[in-house]
Parts: sequence; C-alpha cells; structure tokens
Amino acid sequence: MNIILLGPPGVGKGTQAVIISKEFNLCNISTGDILRESIKNGDDFGKKIKHIVESGALVPDNMIIELIESKMKENKSYDGFLFDGFPRTVKQAEGLDKLLERRSEKVDAVIAMNAGDDIIIDRLLARRVCPQCGTVYNLLTNPPKDGKHCDVCGSELIVRKDDNRETILHRLEVYRESTAPLLEYYKDRLITIDGSKSVSDVASSIIASIGRFSNANG
Ligand code: AMP
Repeated sequence: MNIILLGPPGVGKGTQAVIISKEFNLCNISTGDILRESIKNGDDFGKKIKHIVESGALVPDNMIIELIESKMKENKSYDGFLFDGFPRTVKQAEGLDKLLERRSEKVDAVIAMNAGDDIIIDRLLARRVCPQCGTVYNLLTNPPKDGKHCDVCGSELIVRKDDNRETILHRLEVYRESTAPLLEYYKDRLITIDGSKSVSDVASSIIASIGRFSNANG
C-alpha cells in the first residue's frame, strides 16, 4: 500500500507521517527531512539546494525525482511507502507514477489534510525542532519540558530557517500555485481530513479511513 500525505506546510503532515507509517509498517519518506539532512551534512547536493529550501521555493523536480528513486530502492522490509511532502507538483506526481509502475505498483490513497491559514501560521511560528535528533515540538500544543531543550536528547531547540512569517507566506503561495493542483490529479483516491484538530484526533481519523480503504480494496 502506497500512501501520500498532501496538504499545506504546517498542517501536521510530518507529525502524522511518523504515527501512520508505524501503524501500517510503511517506509516513511519525507523529502523535506532528506533535504535538510543534506544541508546539515554540507554535501554537494546540500550546498546546491540550501538557498532554495531556506527561501521556501521548490527544489527542481528532476532532483527530487532522482532522490525519491534512490530512497525507494532502499526499502526492503516494509509493506509500502508513505510519502510526506512529495509529490509537490504535477511533474513530480507523474514521475512517481512511472517509478511505481516499474514495480507494478501505484499510489493507492492520498490523504489531503487541510486547515485555515491562521492556524497554519500560528503553528509554524510556534514550531521548534531539535537539530540533533529531529524531534519536533510546538510551544503551544506540545512544548518541551523545560521550554528550550529536547526532551529526548537534551540539545537546545532551534527555529527552522523557513519558519519566519515572510517565508511562511511565500510557502503558502507556492503550495496554492504548484501543489494544490494535485488535489485534482488524485481526485479518484482522495481522503480529506480536517488537520485543525488535535494530533491524536487527526491520527485516529487517518487510521480509520486507511483501514476502511484497505478493507474495501482487499
Ligand atoms: P517541508 O519540510 O516538507 O516543509 O519542506 C521544506 C522545504 O523543502 C520546502 O519548502 C521546499 O523548499 C523543499 N522541499 C521539500 N519537499 C520538496 C519537494 N517534493 N519538491 C520540491 N521541494 C521540496
């Protein structure tokens, strides 16, 4: 079973991806995480894309598709893929269809998460991440115990470079222009979820709808 988590930045895709991939034994591929890891490592690819990611623009489709192709080869023991933050353009969606076709597979379901801009902006401004282990917090809804350090590894938390108001507004614009057309592309397998609810309520809705979907499709 191959599933896509689709939705604007800050709607909670990354948080849900961790929960859903565990629940259904899916290989969680987050392009944003992979790109940030490259930037942190300072490898050639990371150097090329740093300014693009930090400005909130999209990394070119051919680079992303190559990256996905190599990540998909690493998957051995899972029951499918969960894509978080990919595809982000129709070109990427067509590229993914081709990659899956080669494996005689397809995109089975697309979870479209939505929430109003006000909620999204507030969430992104309150997001803090651990630069060491990647754990994500929210100062309002899921704060670290001491307000500053990672509960898991103790590192000082940081604000993502693209989580400032100006870049957030740009990312929302990019979403509407380049990514929202995917709602039409995938209209025959779309499951719409209200992302404004609590993390556990959203997770329960997604798990229930994937369960219903997989029962109906054998
Ligand atoms: P995210 O962590 O999903 O919010 O992604 C952070 C940033 O990484 C985006 O604003 C883009 O600059 C870049 N990015 C992540 N995924 C993609 C993708 N599928 N295509 C192009 N750029 C991407």
